[in-house]
Amino acid sequence: MGTLVLGALLLVPPPDTSWKHQRLRAQMVEEQIAGRGVSDAVVLAALRSVPRHRFAPDHPPERAYSDRPLPIGHEQTISQPYIVARMTALLGPDSTDRVLEIGTGSGYQAAVLGEIVDSVYTVEIIPELAATATKRLHRLGYRNVVVRNADGFRGWPEQAPFDAIIVTAAPEAIPPPLVDQLADGGRMVVPVGPRGGSQQLTLVTKSANGTVDRRALAPVRFVPFLHPEEN
Ligand code: SAH
Repeated sequence: MGTLVLGALLLVPPPDTSWKHQRLRAQMVEEQIAGRGVSDAVVLAALRSVPRHRFAPDHPPERAYSDRPLPIGHEQTISQPYIVARMTALLGPDSTDRVLEIGTGSGYQAAVLGEIVDSVYTVEIIPELAATATKRLHRLGYRNVVVRNADGFRGWPEQAPFDAIIVTAAPEAIPPPLVDQLADGGRMVVPVGPRGGSQQLTLVTKSANGTVDRRALAPVRFVPFLHPEEN
């Protein structure tokens, strides 16, 4: 009987109940995020709940929860927690939203959005990263996040329009298909600028009648938006 119970327990992936990780997350949110002015309660709750260390498994947990981006292989990085929080808050995500992400990477930003919105469609150009993120998100139970291995320049036309779009690699100019795929009343957050040069976090809004407005918000540094021939 004892063996049977143990067998059943082993089949179920353990939730992240580790006090150590919860404490690291609470501290991360308080010091790096709320402490730096992100006050959206829904965003803070999502960051308190997503097990960031599972998205950066090659790093010790203390490092995964520290105030910096980290390498995830293939010359890519998982963004700094503060940047993830700030960009998520800028999207003003709602529980009924359908969201497009370009640049799945580790899948962390997609998971944070998955905690908040109805569904997340996320596109990653590097096949190995797309495959790892797909497995990881599935294992962690994010059934409302779908990963596709493709060039995000084209967006995801079959699922458009999107209430919100987030781009986590920096294009030199905003890909026109993404603006087209933004719903009326939608918001897009995208770092824009040259590779390794001065990039601006940019908020693009589309009004109810379809007028597009863009506003540069802050200097940032993101990995470059890749084009298929470079990959
Ligand atoms: N959001 C990620 C961080 C991503 S780093 C996270 O939470 O971990 C940027 C990612 O964008 C990289 O994985 C990179 O491979 C991807 N990328 C770059 N150019 C792309 C393109 N044209 N289409 C889709 N993904 C792209």
